Amino acid sequence: SNNMKRVLVTGANKGIGKACCQKLLEEHSDVFVWLGSRSSERGEEAVHDIIKSVGGDCQDRIAMVTLDISSEESVVQAAAKIQQQLKGDEKLYGIINNAGIIRGPDHSVVETNYFGTKRVVNAFLPLLQRPGGRIVNVASASGPNFVQGLSQRDTLYKVLKEPWTIEGGLDGVDELAKKYCDQYGSSYGFSKALVNAYNLLLARSQPELIVNAVTPGWIKTDMTVGQGATNPPSQGAVPPVWALMDPELESTTTGLYYGSDCKRS
Ligand code: NDP
Repeated sequence: SNNMKRVLVTGANKGIGKACCQKLLEEHSDVFVWLGSRSSERGEEAVHDIIKSVGGDCQDRIAMVTLDISSEESVVQAAAKIQQQLKGDEKLYGIINNAGIIRGPDHSVVETNYFGTKRVVNAFLPLLQRPGGRIVNVASASGPNFVQGLSQRDTLYKVLKEPWTIEGGLDGVDELAKKYCDQYGSSYGFSKALVNAYNLLLARSQPELIVNAVTPGWIKTDMTVGQGATNPPSQGAVPPVWALMDPELESTTTGLYYGSDCKRS
């Protein structure tokens, strides 16, 4: 129906993204979820798991969409598919940009975490509800930590600390990413610092939307395997789902970065 809130979660075939889909279905009977997965097979399996845990009643409120955030073609196709599935004046209520990697060859970490996030936003922006549509960017404490680790005399330090000074605004973040890619292209912290800068500038450029970044906390997933994290993905899903759904965030706060306790940090 038209009162449903339609949301997309990227990288949702496992880990925190999958837990976000499950939590949304469990706690919000008015939500329809597109579970994004770069492998349709793994995505369908996750949908199946979720329906099994939440109960068959939710099966009409979840669908898989094939979505590889590092491929322009895949992202554009996914947006077209979702647009097709929206009827009449239906819009997308929100996006959780969760897909990410912590390591990979060459520039792939920045390519996926930063450029991939931006690629998804650009493709889905026209589908978002205005006013009030929401974007949640899953960041990480490693972003601010990366910035803190730079020398204060470094120009990179200054612009990441005060993203509104980046020349060229949103495009300037791309320039920054490219300029430092040889140096930091496989740095997870750099990629997430770029996501934070982007988050702030995106919020400013889209005043009708509610755009925020959250860190899920230290969560036991395939990403952190063997590193001693103990909190389950269901806990990591709390901040992103909160930033997507909490009515108090309506038009009051945007462009902010929230910690795993859902407090500004
Ligand atoms: P996982 O590795 O368990 O899950 C990552 C998900 O992203 C997988 O579904 C993976 O798909 C998907 N993915 C990776 N690359 C792409 C791509 N190019 N296109 C589409 N999907 C992709 O990690 P987490 O659940 O732990 O991480 C989720 C988010 O939370 C990430 O952004 C991460 O940086 C962030 N985060 C996690 C923390 C933690 O403690 N776990 C701490 C701070 C932040 P596939 O299965 O196909 O690889």
